[in-house]
Amino acid sequence: MTLIDRMVLCTGNAGKIVEMKALLPRTMELFSLEDIGLPLDLPETGRTLYVNALQKARYAYERCGLPCVADDTGLEVDALDGAPGVYSARYAGEAKDPLANMAKVLGGLEGREDRTARFRAVIALVSTEGERTFDGTVEGVITRSPRGSGGFGYDPIFQPDGYVGTFAEMDASMKNTISHRAKAMRLLVDHLAELARR
Ligand code: IMP
Repeated sequence: MTLIDRMVLCTGNAGKIVEMKALLPRTMELFSLEDIGLPLDLPETGRTLYVNALQKARYAYERCGLPCVADDTGLEVDALDGAPGVYSARYAGEAKDPLANMAKVLGGLEGREDRTARFRAVIALVSTEGERTFDGTVEGVITRSPRGSGGFGYDPIFQPDGYVGTFAEMDASMKNTISHRAKAMRLLVDHLAELARR
């Protein structure tokens, strides 16, 4: 039996932390990057979400030895050939400004009919058990303008298929049931349960 009952959430993004915490077992002891003395912005220099998620989790694991979990997420817009994708955080520049990022996506889609898009999340777990990744995707469309005040990042311009509201207009718990991150987190939680049974 390998009980993973403590882990480091390797992100400085407060929105991600809230969503990830809500999906982990209440008994899990959670640490932040600050708790283990690491900067909030871990290196992410890869060209894929997988490489970046693993890079962040490994970086923290090598420095603290606790199980480390990291999330790398991208918004893929079909009419923009999959951009911003793995470059979602810095799409409009190093400032990682969500308003500028959304404006750039909306600008790129001006006059375009195809507004289909998806969020893709990869969550990496690095621990004494080795390295694992879990992924989740949610399909949707990019709205004509930002709507709603909840969530974070690109949420105000992303409307998941089958819903009339954007992620930013939804109840936080609804987003956290259907989102890319929720799907990947459920796979992680299943994996933790499987390890505990072994
Ligand atoms: P990263 O995964 O921290 O590199 O974030 C990539 C970019 O996507 C950042 O601009 C985030 O704000 C944004 N992002 C990540 N997750 C979500 C989400 O669940 N909703 C909306 N935007 C997100």
